[in-house]
Amino acid sequence: MHDIDRKAAAFIELEDRYGAHNYQPLDVVVERAEGVWLYDGAGKRYLDCVSAYSAVNQGHCHPRIRAALEEQARKVTLTSRAMRNDRLGPFLKRLTEFCGYESALPMNTGVEAVETAIKLARRYAYERKRVASDSAEIIVFANNFHGRTTAAISASTTEQYRHDFGPFTPGFVAVPYGDYDALAAAVNERTCAILVEPIQGEGGVIVPPPDFLKRAWGLCREHRVLFMADEIQTGLGRTGDLFACDHDGIKPDVMIVGKALGGGYYPVSAMLASRDLMQLFGPGDHGSTFGGNPLACAVGMASLDVIESENLPARARYAGARLMRGLRDLASPAIEEVRGRGLLIGLQLTVPARRLAELLMERGVVAKDTHEDVLRIAPPLVIEDAEIELLLSAMDGALKAVL
Ligand SMILES: *Cc1c(COP(=O)(O)O)cnc(C)c1O
Repeated sequence: MHDIDRKAAAFIELEDRYGAHNYQPLDVVVERAEGVWLYDGAGKRYLDCVSAYSAVNQGHCHPRIRAALEEQARKVTLTSRAMRNDRLGPFLKRLTEFCGYESALPMNTGVEAVETAIKLARRYAYERKRVASDSAEIIVFANNFHGRTTAAISASTTEQYRHDFGPFTPGFVAVPYGDYDALAAAVNERTCAILVEPIQGEGGVIVPPPDFLKRAWGLCREHRVLFMADEIQTGLGRTGDLFACDHDGIKPDVMIVGKALGGGYYPVSAMLASRDLMQLFGPGDHGSTFGGNPLACAVGMASLDVIESENLPARARYAGARLMRGLRDLASPAIEEVRGRGLLIGLQLTVPARRLAELLMERGVVAKDTHEDVLRIAPPLVIEDAEIELLLSAMDGALKAVL
């Protein structure tokens, strides 16, 4: 074995020996990254089509975000919310204005922001809708992904996420994704919210029927049900708009963001809502030691600055259209469908996605299977034309080899 391969094998062995085996990663050991590129210990580069599940929309190690992080790291990084800090206020102002909401509650990981929304919806049920205590229902959708906490998997319908992890948190009702009639039938006097991904990411890049979100939003108005969008993966430019819901012209009552809000440097998430809804939380009702810490605020602020100043939503729209056309033009019998929006693209395959991912890796592209027969292509939004061409040519080679 080559020296460098031995080094990579040693890292893999350490992970396997001392870590939990709760992932099945591709065996590329990344040591450095910049923009859309990942580099292994041998200096071989790979085009990143995973983008840490949309957490690095701005590209890896963006210098502007790094500068903000370094500057803040020298001043103060963590105060807890037991006192105030000079970064939280400006960050909240920037985040809410940028996203079009009156107020925000900062957390760290995506699933914590989801949990925050679930708690808000339940309190809304009892305080505003007079739902009988402990009986509020939140409607979720089959095949969803909202994270891995006990409440999030209680909302899941995916057997693998749930197996042997019960008992589950009650209060979630699942209906088929994109099925308006099923949704309408599920709404009752106990319903306080629907929680929806405008495009299902982990579920295999599933785009709902054209009018579904709009009609669901209308239904929510009619029944005083909160429309809560989980845009942790679809938001902040990924789908060619700032939010995937913008495409449908709807404004969710509750917006959940994460991933790219941290620019790949730091976990930063938030739940956005009106002032009126946010008032449902009083002192001590909810919180997080790290939520809204100065370092997170500085990173979050810079992450938003990059999305805005580099026009990332528009670039995702352009690059996504170009890439999607290129993928369709490959006309491979291994591809049954190319779907998605912007730079959130799913290839529905007639061959195992894992095998195609391995062949792509040999050709310098890292993309990940989601489900057995779907490959997700989601590069950083800063991808350039020449890199799209490289990606398409690697894909062409891999598709020919897989058949
Ligand atoms: C990734 C993701 C989450 C969970 O975010 P974490 O930061 O991993 O907790 C929730 N919802 C969606 C749609 C996601 O893609």
